[in-house]
Amino acid sequence: MGLFSKDLKSMEDLHLHVLQDIYYAEHQIKKALPDMIEKAANRELADAFRTHLGETEKQIGRLEECFRLLGKDPKGVTCPAIDGIIKEADDIAGESEEKVIDAALVAAAQAVEHYEITRYGSLIAWSKELGLDSVAQLLKTTLEEEKATDRKLTEIGEQKVNLMAAG
Ligand code: FE
Ligand code: FE
Ligand code: FE
Repeated sequence: MGLFSKDLKSMEDLHLHVLQDIYYAEHQIKKALPDMIEKAANRELADAFRTHLGETEKQIGRLEECFRLLGKDPKGVTCPAIDGIIKEADDIAGESEEKVIDAALVAAAQAVEHYEITRYGSLIAWSKELGLDSVAQLLKTTLEEEKATDRKLTEIGEQKVNLMAAG
């Protein structure tokens, strides 16, 4: 044991930390989506972002329910990964001409969805391990929305915006 004890001592601590991480991330995503809606030229892409903004708000509510089930106050901890992914999305959109901007936005949004999928996947596995079945259930609903959004973005990319960007 070192001189300074570390903050994450148990699986419960780790679980709570990652819950706080994704809670912060969902808030950042909620803040970023209106800008992505505005930048999207393709109507279907803008609609997909709009739908996912509504889902993201519900996902924040589900996370608050998870905190409640754990007897904790909802609280976020800075997630440097989502900050970086959103910053990169801003940068690439800012540097893209209209012809390629939607392809850039799809790729950026899929990076966000994939980050969320890894986090919810770990949280669900740990929730089950800890016997937190109601928490696992709530997180599973959200995970399915993230996966469906990712599939929708693949479809919009392959059937619409990549063709436009390449054309
Ligand atoms: Fe989300
Ligand atoms: Fe994180
Ligand atoms: Fe998402």
